[in-house]
Amino acid sequence: MADPLFPALVAPPAKTALTFGELTLDYPGLAAVAGTLARELRASEVARVAVWATPTLHTSVAVIASLLAGVPAVPVNPKIGERELGHIVSDSEPGLVLTEPGVELPPALAALPRKDVPLTGAPADPLEEPGPEAPALIIYTSGTTGPPKGVVLPRRAIAGTLDALEDAWQWSADDVLVHALPLFHVHGLILGILGPVRRGGSARHVGRFSTEAIAKELTDGATMMFGVPTMYHRIAGEVDGNPELAKAFGRARLLVSGSAALPVHDHQRITAATGQQVVERYGMTETLMNTSVRADGERKPGAVGVPLRGVELRLVDDEGEPVEETGAVGEIQVRGSNLFTEYLNRPDATAEAFTEGWFRTGDMATRDADGYVRIVGRKATDLIKSGGYKIGAGEIENALLEHPGVAEAAVTGEPDPDLGERIVAWIVPDGPAPAERELADHVARLLSPHKRPRVVRFLDALPRNEMGKVMKRALHPGQG
Ligand code: ATP
Ligand code: MG
Repeated sequence: MADPLFPALVAPPAKTALTFGELTLDYPGLAAVAGTLARELRASEVARVAVWATPTLHTSVAVIASLLAGVPAVPVNPKIGERELGHIVSDSEPGLVLTEPGVELPPALAALPRKDVPLTGAPADPLEEPGPEAPALIIYTSGTTGPPKGVVLPRRAIAGTLDALEDAWQWSADDVLVHALPLFHVHGLILGILGPVRRGGSARHVGRFSTEAIAKELTDGATMMFGVPTMYHRIAGEVDGNPELAKAFGRARLLVSGSAALPVHDHQRITAATGQQVVERYGMTETLMNTSVRADGERKPGAVGVPLRGVELRLVDDEGEPVEETGAVGEIQVRGSNLFTEYLNRPDATAEAFTEGWFRTGDMATRDADGYVRIVGRKATDLIKSGGYKIGAGEIENALLEHPGVAEAAVTGEPDPDLGERIVAWIVPDGPAPAERELADHVARLLSPHKRPRVVRFLDALPRNEMGKVMKRALHPGQG
């Protein structure tokens, strides 16, 4: 029999596993409901299930049951648009949809057999689990750089990444995680729900994010928080001048940020108010987690830490040659037990994504003398070729955010007859908009003159997806 993904569901301890607001399941309860549903899924002989992934206990049970059954689950964003849903359903061909009771499903899913996920069940003997390479989850990428791709994740990658995080974060059964993340991406689902259950610890989901809701759980015994940078941005603003809130965040064993770059300025504001340094980690749907700052390691704002156990990481230049020097920029490529198997129905894209067994992440980075990785930005959208220089958008964004008149910033390149590309700054002002010239000079002073934005455009909000990632494609429609 293969090793169980969740040992705590085989021999359930008498303790809380998952809490969503008023609803909660302890380990014996979770083992019973997920075990019963797993038996039904296996008996149904469907090849794949869709999970209507509302941020609920039902979604968590549905995914855990499908993992126990060995029936790959496809979590679906409940706010998904019709066209994208149509693509996911025809691409992944689920035979059944699992959902919380009482919800109305859109037509593409309502056409499938439906199973409402219960929260009570009789104890069931564990099923024999499939082997490590069996597909376990199919998660669609965020669609930041193009249409989302279905990433086939084997059990080996899920177990591998969660155990590497146990090592890096000293993550134990005693940890209580609090989060407010959606459950259809890696961050909220694999790290935020499957992680605690694999450890035999617990997770509390607070529903809609608010600094107060997280602070309350941290005061009531939660030890870790997982969040995206937009959440930490809100926290940074709210703990400043609110000692009560600052104290709550100061209690946490670990505040972890991921899914996008955490602005240095927000990191510093949180540290100043709470005494905490946020731990940043870097991952992708295809690779799960690649790097992290270690719980016992030095925290450096702007750096995503060091490769996790079991992950090999290299930087390569445009010719595919490894970049060895400290501080030099290259594309991150990774190899290891954390990697996906393939893009669903996309052998072309799968083949293109690998070079000699290394996965091309499309993210550009440098490494410092301690081996800490700093992400410069994405090759596709964040690397601006201007006046013969290659300039990373992230560095300029961080500089802009230090200006008191800037609440949010995104930097892109657009075609320019003289420079090749010119640097464009998209700014959400904090109060009255600062003068364009002043922002350009501010950047030129902090960084260097060639990094000065040539154009500044003011917006009420940046286009972001549900993880808070800036959708730079939407800033330059037409440029792809
Ligand atoms: P798509 O692949 O569909 O364009 P996506 O790459 O945004 O979308 P995900 O797999 O959810 O989809 O996100 C992975 C990406 O998120 C990484 O390639 C990286 O660019 C970014 N990312 C994740 N964590 C961090 C981090 N800590 N700092 C900077 N970027 C990060
Ligand atoms: Mg991607």
